[in-house]
Amino acid sequence: MQTYAYGFPRLGKKREYKRVIEAFWRNELTEQELLASFDLFQRHMIESYESCVSTFPVGEITYYDSMLDTAIMVGLYKFSGLDDYYDMCRGKGALELRKWFNTNYHYLVPDFSTARPASLGLHWNKPLDYFLRIDRGIPYTIGPFTLLKLSKGTSGNFAEFMEALAEIYFQIASSVPSLHIDEPALVLQLTPGERNSIKRTYQRITQSGSEVNLFTYYDSVDNLEELYEIPFFSLGVDFVHGTGNLETILRSGFPGAMRLIAGVVDGRNIWKTDIQKATRLIEALRQKADKLVLSNAGPLFHLPVSVSYEYGLAPELKEGIAFAEERLTEVRLLAQSRAEQTSGSAKSGSLLPGNTVVQKRVADLKEGDFVRDVPYKVRSRIQHQTLGLPLFPSTTIGSFPQTKEIRAKRAAFRNGSLHKEQYKHFIKEKIEEVVRFQEDTGLDVLVHGEFERSDMVEFFAEKMEGFTCTREGWVLSYGTRAYRPPILFGDVSRRDPMTLEEICYAQSLTRKPIKGMLTGPVTILAWSFVREDIAIEKTAYQIALCLNDEIQDYQNAGIRIIQVDEPAFREGAPLKKRDWDFYYSWATKAFNLAVKSDPQTQIHTHMCYSDFGDIIQQISALDFDVISVEASRSGGEIIDQFREMNFGKQIGLGVWDIHSPVVPKAEQMQKVVRKALEVLNPDQLWVNPDCGLKTRGWEETKAALRNMVTISRIMRSSSRNTTPD
Ligand code: GLN
Ligand code: ZN
Repeated sequence: MQTYAYGFPRLGKKREYKRVIEAFWRNELTEQELLASFDLFQRHMIESYESCVSTFPVGEITYYDSMLDTAIMVGLYKFSGLDDYYDMCRGKGALELRKWFNTNYHYLVPDFSTARPASLGLHWNKPLDYFLRIDRGIPYTIGPFTLLKLSKGTSGNFAEFMEALAEIYFQIASSVPSLHIDEPALVLQLTPGERNSIKRTYQRITQSGSEVNLFTYYDSVDNLEELYEIPFFSLGVDFVHGTGNLETILRSGFPGAMRLIAGVVDGRNIWKTDIQKATRLIEALRQKADKLVLSNAGPLFHLPVSVSYEYGLAPELKEGIAFAEERLTEVRLLAQSRAEQTSGSAKSGSLLPGNTVVQKRVADLKEGDFVRDVPYKVRSRIQHQTLGLPLFPSTTIGSFPQTKEIRAKRAAFRNGSLHKEQYKHFIKEKIEEVVRFQEDTGLDVLVHGEFERSDMVEFFAEKMEGFTCTREGWVLSYGTRAYRPPILFGDVSRRDPMTLEEICYAQSLTRKPIKGMLTGPVTILAWSFVREDIAIEKTAYQIALCLNDEIQDYQNAGIRIIQVDEPAFREGAPLKKRDWDFYYSWATKAFNLAVKSDPQTQIHTHMCYSDFGDIIQQISALDFDVISVEASRSGGEIIDQFREMNFGKQIGLGVWDIHSPVVPKAEQMQKVVRKALEVLNPDQLWVNPDCGLKTRGWEETKAALRNMVTISRIMRSSSRNTTPD
């Protein structure tokens, strides 16, 4: 049987991708040298593919992000060198970052608002470039529909833009003998208008005579049969996520002339493929599709490169998992019907003996455990009295600049060259510095700075039973940034308090309130590889109980404000809205279980990087008192959505876009707050940056926080003058 694979991680075996690009940014590499490195990465990807599968794309490699490449390809942006290119990624003209479907990869969001359909044109034929340079593989691109659907500024003109793109892609397809087109957006819930437009566009593109291989993934395609009418050479569909594709094919068959590229091994989670199940699936598909090709379900870059670099993992665990390279092997062996040779069986997560105490705690949960006893209206009065915060209180989201010094100390501690006591002492010094700094700057609610945390999920995973962390299990998050998702492989419990020592130390240094700082259960799950042997909500509640134990400890220690970050709350939602209810019901309950606390305790949460417009209802079902969200880039637009739902709690709109190195002026910050005041009362508003300051430098942090505090004070005094007590 034929095989195909795609989406292999571009990071390189040891994150060389990151290293060379960042060296170029520091002027340590020339453009020529960097380009040569990209060729090397492309060659390595091809070698990995060729060792296992017969066909694969070329040109998946990108200088930073494939969505940006696609936007450049169709003439939305121009670039004439890598400096230009990287300016769009991280310079003054940087594009917005947004989460890619329901993954933790962030893409650069193209903005069509100032473009016209007629102004688009083939500017960079990247597929042809790769076809000419590399003598094998199928030239790769993201498709027109996904490009537009995930861009901004297309509303009103969507169909016209699609028509323009149809011509450009026709030109591209005409220039190469075959083309790999990724169209994950086809798995969203589409309108009849969009479906029509997709059909017309692909009818045009396939007139090129080129062999068009269209790939969909992350879920099933509604109306898959509509794609049968277009003369694709192959159609790639996902049989791991969503059941719709299989149902359609069992019901309606598959066109005899078309190759069915069947995604049968998981591109999103790490448990070894259940061979018997996969074999049955392949048999069923064989009955329906004459030309069956086996493949991965979804791109492989959501997985680390290879299990073989993991020396520290327990042998049973190592045996039971597959990263990208091992997935390729699975595809090969399944195609050769030799899959039983992939030694080790699919365990889907149950590798530790069950923890009956935890299981019983979850089984005994009652409805009352998922809601705080005192409603917001009443507790906010209590908190007002006990905390005595001023109007427009100023705060930050948690982390402060993680300098080279901090990273070096952490590395030294990890590799054993720095003693634990010395490391702890160092962290304490940093905490003291940042507390003093915040007091001097005049912030109202202080944080401890998160210097002891490298990653907001891995940090907690290391402290909980039931998780394990990898050494080299890097997964791309955006651009050159990668993170190591922990692996959940048993029941979750808390050994000891996880964060108490640092928070209490910070509180001992000041009379101002210190915000306790936790990562929420939904985000911990979303950024980990999860068990599949028990229901997801059970794991979520297990994590939530650990966090709640921590919150009880905080309360006993006199910490009165606690933030539970949920930046991935939106991300974990299924792609089709009709599937949302189940997800949001357990996600909401998990959060609420975690934050169940005394009425005096003020619970904050923080979310960022997502489109919150359509989940305002779900957000308001969360039992927090204060939420901080991103707003500086969207000019406070999110406020309109809060207006519509009559939001009654407190909110901190990010007045500083921390992803840009530019220090915002005080007036600019004030604009965001003023806009919010059109909708919300003064006693509902906080002043804060839109995310943690971990990636910022101290210089801009000082300047921006000073401006922020000034704004909070100006707003306070002007509202004191206008509103009677
Ligand atoms: N508290 C975290 C921080 O400040 C939140 C990070 C996030 O939202 N991703 O770093
Ligand atoms: Zn954030």
